[in-house]
Amino acid sequence: MYPKTIRKLIEIFSKFPGIGQKTATRFVFYLLKQKKEDIEEFSKFLKDLKEKVKFCKFCFKPFEGEKQLCEICQNPARDLTKICIVEKEQDLEAIENAQIFNGLYFVLGGPISSISKEELEKLRVKELFERIKSPEKFGVFGNFKEIILALNPTVTGEAISIYLEKKLKKLGKKITRLGKGLPSGGELEYADEETLKSAFEGRK
Ligand SMILES: [Zn+2]
Repeated sequence: MYPKTIRKLIEIFSKFPGIGQKTATRFVFYLLKQKKEDIEEFSKFLKDLKEKVKFCKFCFKPFEGEKQLCEICQNPARDLTKICIVEKEQDLEAIENAQIFNGLYFVLGGPISSISKEELEKLRVKELFERIKSPEKFGVFGNFKEIILALNPTVTGEAISIYLEKKLKKLGKKITRLGKGLPSGGELEYADEETLKSAFEGRK
């Protein structure tokens, strides 16, 4: 049997998304072979992940710094009449990297496995409404005229879009969804820039 520390680390890595027992074991033995300084650096960044990284008060994007708002929400050059709703941080990152959108975002949270009541409660729906209605309460002086639903083209993503569209209608704002072209069942974070661009331009 492996020593306790090794066993414990294998157990921790096995909980990572998509990582099984075998890969977890390989990670631990890989670390065991590294230099002490490298392991210290690794532990430092792990610690910083919880100590330095915080979530934007408005959009929930992770960022580092003294302020309450992320660099996007703080940027005066952004278009404060548009807000784009994404499921996860990685989707926001993909849209930003493609440089196709200049408004603000909102990270809904997730992924969720179904649209049952309990799963839906894991999403920041209440927070979303508060921010669209009174962005100034969260430090953003926006006046949103268009709400873009940029959820993943998966079964759950589609269902969340329909659910949100129904609820958001009451706010009397223009609601758009990304155009066709994104691979069905895929995720925004894996879409190439051209595909993302045409999905954004084709929104309706
Ligand atoms: Zn933000």
